[in-house]
Amino acid sequence: GRGRNVAQEEQMRVFVRIKPLPEEDDLLKPKTIRIRNDNALIFDPKQDETPFFFHGVKQNPRDISKRQHKSIKYDFHRVFGPQSSNEDIYNESTKDLLNKLLCGYNCSVFVYGATGAGKTFTMLGNETNYGITYLTMKDLYEKVNEQQNSKKFEIYVSYLEVYNEMVYDLLVSDKKPLFLRECGNTTSVAGITIKMVNNVDELIEMLRRGNDNRTQHPTDANAESSRSHALFQVYIQMTFKHTDQVKMAKLSMVDLAGSERASSNKGMRFKEGSNINKSLLALGNCINNLSDGLRHIPYRDSKLTRLLKDSLGGNCKTLMISCVSPALSSYEDTHNTLKYASRAMKI
Ligand code: ADP
Ligand code: MG
Repeated sequence: GRGRNVAQEEQMRVFVRIKPLPEEDDLLKPKTIRIRNDNALIFDPKQDETPFFFHGVKQNPRDISKRQHKSIKYDFHRVFGPQSSNEDIYNESTKDLLNKLLCGYNCSVFVYGATGAGKTFTMLGNETNYGITYLTMKDLYEKVNEQQNSKKFEIYVSYLEVYNEMVYDLLVSDKKPLFLRECGNTTSVAGITIKMVNNVDELIEMLRRGNDNRTQHPTDANAESSRSHALFQVYIQMTFKHTDQVKMAKLSMVDLAGSERASSNKGMRFKEGSNINKSLLALGNCINNLSDGLRHIPYRDSKLTRLLKDSLGGNCKTLMISCVSPALSSYEDTHNTLKYASRAMKI
């Protein structure tokens, strides 16, 4: 933000994570992104003139498409290349947010991007590669143990999805829509499961099961596709032992629905698409208004933004991790994601 103070400038940080191409494609295929440094990338770069070697054979990466390359430079707070691990991302993202959280600030982390770009991999990871949720919660429990002499902590979690502008509890297997209730600056979900968890492994098992409860379309060409937003929230209540002062803070981690356009979808699927656009659109509009320094933030425009109104803007710390693929086949998705992310950079 222009002309605003430092504390406000740190309100939102925007990262881009570039996933690896499948190994067999990696060297020979042209990519839509060239990393410039830790804070900048070039989208749709001019083809490299210098030859390179593959299995000892000189390759000439000619540009057979004869396209006019856009060569657009984008700046971000951090750019992570294909070799970055979830741990690398974590070390420069939520690790820092945890300190803010324990000072009583609400914090939120979004993963944004098209289906297949690596959102769930970043958030949840898999058995061999823990995601940032696991790493965050592990660190949180450690920090809580360290501070136990001076504070008493109570930690609760919930996990829900917003699908078709309906809210479902991911910690129970039967799907029935839940209603939102506004109370003051926060929105609560009537009947949502709130769990007290003391152990990170138990928690991650719960999240994996919850993720399996997310609405999926097995008939879809992309089996991994997800049109739902998954929202994991951690509520922390801290009681200072000497003064009895109580502080509350909330961490929200959101695995957003795929940001690709649902243009070819028909019937029910089209409705899904347009509703997801509604929550993503509303989130984008909130971000736009925040970045323009406007007073009115349209939180009310979607379920997702209503749920996040106490966790976005104001005193909250927000991190957006935008996931992209460097594959030529993802050109439009990648371009759209970078545009969305660079808008958020202005906050
Ligand atoms: P999304 O949730 O955005 O739809 P996923 O996280 O499910 O995408 O990723 C799609 C596929 O790509 C998965 O098989 C995942 O394991 C793989 N993948 C994504 N990002 C990475 C990465 N940084 N490193 C290795 N594999 C990745
Ligand atoms: Mg996913």
